[in-house]
Amino acid sequence: MMQLWSEDPHVEPLRVPVFDAHTHLDATAQKAGVAPDAAFVAATMADARAVGVAAAITVGDSVASSRWCVQVAAQHQDVYAAVAVHPTEVDGLTDDDYTALESLARHEKVVAVGESGLDYHWDRTTPEQQQDHFRRHIALAKAVGKPLMIHDRDAHADVLRILREQGAPDRVIFHSFSGDEAMARECVTAGYVLSFSGVVSFKNAPHTREAAAVTPPELMLVETDAPFLTPHPHRGRPNSPRLLPLTIRALAQAAGVDLDALCAAVAENGVRLFGMSALPGSSHQL
Ligand SMILES: [Zn+2]
Repeated sequence: MMQLWSEDPHVEPLRVPVFDAHTHLDATAQKAGVAPDAAFVAATMADARAVGVAAAITVGDSVASSRWCVQVAAQHQDVYAAVAVHPTEVDGLTDDDYTALESLARHEKVVAVGESGLDYHWDRTTPEQQQDHFRRHIALAKAVGKPLMIHDRDAHADVLRILREQGAPDRVIFHSFSGDEAMARECVTAGYVLSFSGVVSFKNAPHTREAAAVTPPELMLVETDAPFLTPHPHRGRPNSPRLLPLTIRALAQAAGVDLDALCAAVAENGVRLFGMSALPGSSHQL
């Protein structure tokens, strides 16, 4: 079944290594129809490393997937974890769940609390429920002193308002940034970091490229959100960290910056935001 990945399209390697700031290795395995085991993770990261993607943050969306992410990060030097419960999954979340999340969040390979936020596209949970649990995740990020990685879908105004009301953690990242130029300016002014996904390469997403054009590289990250949001021209097939170079090339073009310089900036952002002392498995010492 691993051959699925070797059939993936050719990707021109990056000259300056970067990392995938937001991916779901468990869901990526599931989509490929294989077990999310150590062999899958090692093979996926080896494929990514071969094109200059030297590390990845695998992100939890439930207590169970957060626990999986921490285990994988503990076993693989080039994998880091983020832990949280996704806004569409917060129904029934208990105090005990938060206790479990906090102890996971304190693990040395956990570099963020996320993904947490608001998602008004789906109605599995009410906006009130989502807002209550978003506030609890903000408090958790502050309690453990780690960055907050935000999921914001169709909820820009409420996400920004709750961050203001609650007091944002020192480091805030908008995963798969989906706002327009005006929102990007507001985030940049607040010092928030914008993580761009394959959406920046989509023909029907000019507002995302306009947002990238007003975001300084020191506040940029790049991510796959694999297995979702596969970059152009491969939309429709499963995404994987090895397709990240397609997205960062589209991002560099949208932002009007040199590709190598953007890669170096993104790698440095990994050090500043997540404490990545160097990108493991690469020769690029920061
Ligand atoms: Zn995600």
